[in-house]
Amino acid sequence: MVRKLDWSKYFKIEQHKIETFIKTFGAKKIYAMGLMPIRGPKGFRKLDYEFAEKGLNVVEIMNKLEEAHFNTLGIVIKDTDGACTWDTKVGWNPTNRDILGEFCDEGKDMSIKIMVSFTSMNDAFQGYLHPKRVSVHGKNGENFGKKYVKGDISTHEAYEMRVDLPNGISYNDYKRKIPFLTEKKDEKFGKARGTRGTGYIPTESFMCPNSAHINYLIDLIKEVVKNYPIKAFTADYIRYDGHFTDLCACHRCLKKFKVKYGDKAKILKGKDWIEFKTDTIAEYAQRVQETVKNIDNNCLTGWYSQVGPKKLVTLKRHGQDWTKLSSILDISVPMEYPYLAGTRDDGIYWGLIGNLFYWYFIRNMKRRAHEYRNPVLGLTNSVECNVKEMLKQMRGFDFGLGIAVFKYFGTSNEQWKALKEYAEKEIGLENL
Ligand SMILES: [Zn+2]
Repeated sequence: MVRKLDWSKYFKIEQHKIETFIKTFGAKKIYAMGLMPIRGPKGFRKLDYEFAEKGLNVVEIMNKLEEAHFNTLGIVIKDTDGACTWDTKVGWNPTNRDILGEFCDEGKDMSIKIMVSFTSMNDAFQGYLHPKRVSVHGKNGENFGKKYVKGDISTHEAYEMRVDLPNGISYNDYKRKIPFLTEKKDEKFGKARGTRGTGYIPTESFMCPNSAHINYLIDLIKEVVKNYPIKAFTADYIRYDGHFTDLCACHRCLKKFKVKYGDKAKILKGKDWIEFKTDTIAEYAQRVQETVKNIDNNCLTGWYSQVGPKKLVTLKRHGQDWTKLSSILDISVPMEYPYLAGTRDDGIYWGLIGNLFYWYFIRNMKRRAHEYRNPVLGLTNSVECNVKEMLKQMRGFDFGLGIAVFKYFGTSNEQWKALKEYAEKEIGLENL
């Protein structure tokens, strides 16, 4: 067995923050499983409202989690498509179900706590509905072979999700339900991370974080925190689109930037621009924090942290300043998915790629852990890797508070067995 790292010397977190975290979840160690209701019954490459509506069995899921000793369920209540899977008056819910409500009801008599994950800037449906709120390119460029020019909105083909037409439903009929679906299809399955999905390609849109999209998100947050007994509200995609360095150059952002830094300040590059981007994301974090706490002071807030090189990626591309964001919100959730880059199951080469990423992710966290100011819960994957790789990640990225695993559907039977054993032997039943 891999020896567990002692992460305590790398992190500098105040004790009272850790105590609040433990008190809220009622356990010293979190053992969380993630669920993405709209991504179908297998992995996370599909967008599948049919399954969310008719196939998703809440009772079965909760029983299975209890059986494997999970003490927390993380539900992605709003994914990158933009669907709001609760009883909403503000948002768009194509599933015809109150999925969050059903889980909360079922969880009442169980020891499983509910935390929710809320996709923020990335929202395909809002991008379709409000193209003027989508981020704007500041330079000419190319994406997936498609050219765009300065001033274009950055709605483009989705990287991850693909759509299969349900039996007996035509493309045109389905496009009425999913208005951001394109006619283009990915037929071939590949082994590299970006080429594993097959089916019709939807678009995706990263919304401008200085647009009215933020007010829309805040209204949704109010609805969720008011109406559901959740323990934590975590914001995902609390960032810019990492595939580009020229977002967002819309009139709103440029105006705001010039007011703060002057007419001569450099846009799209340099220190001022990066500070502007990270401040913009931090302002949204501040609004999330205030909105949640005004309604329920005991509900924890959190954010998903993109891991990678500090200057070139997390600051410049994503606009995520770890210290700023972790000083505002209650918990940080770094996404540690090295084996999504490659798994031994696809051959020796892909196994080596995965191992290399694992080594890099550990080293990167050792170097950057001190940037966090709040408790850190590592999130890793069970999908698209084998039992050995999954366990290695779970041990490696437990920073002291337990581990969150992504995701329920797509975890093999063999992995479920290993997850149960891990709970018993390594999380400790006193926590479960
Ligand atoms: Zn903008």
